[in-house]
Amino acid sequence: MLSSTSPRSKGLYEFQHPNVKLRLALGRKRKSWYLVLARNYGSGQPREVVRLDKAGMRSSSDGSHSRFWFNTKATSGWERNGQSLLQLLLSLDPYDPPVIALASGDTVLEEKCGALEVDVIVPAHRLARWCEGCGYWETVDSNPRWILARPGKMPGYLCGACAEKDWFGARVLRYLHIRRGRSML
Ligand SMILES: [Zn+2]
Repeated sequence: MLSSTSPRSKGLYEFQHPNVKLRLALGRKRKSWYLVLARNYGSGQPREVVRLDKAGMRSSSDGSHSRFWFNTKATSGWERNGQSLLQLLLSLDPYDPPVIALASGDTVLEEKCGALEVDVIVPAHRLARWCEGCGYWETVDSNPRWILARPGKMPGYLCGACAEKDWFGARVLRYLHIRRGRSML
């Protein structure tokens, strides 16, 4: 059974690797999975580090637990000595719990497709959210957090400004979100 990263916590989950000085997060943009910077580090540094899932291979999710096909060719630039990005993410700082785990280790499929299936250990409500309105990623200090504007298997989110600007439904959800003081998931 999968362990969980502080399931009672509500904030975006950030983590670190000994090779990397920046704080990182796992994020989801529509069907895709990304490694993103957990904060804005300025200087126009893009928040997206790399897309993690193999394009064209289906992710699965039951709302709280997700699984996707990790692109074994994906690189972040932080890998050392022949290490892959997948290995880097499986060997995080010992003080941080793991963020993903190998699901099947199907090496035949890996060779055929260049992908390995992984389970996402970070709970869905603690993943970095991408705003469908302005295209920005939320940061660890986004308060309140981006809100759920479209539930379902491929949830959509809006930042506070976009939610108030152009969508009544999102505004209601935002109100409920603030009232309840917790994630809508
Ligand atoms: Zn926005």
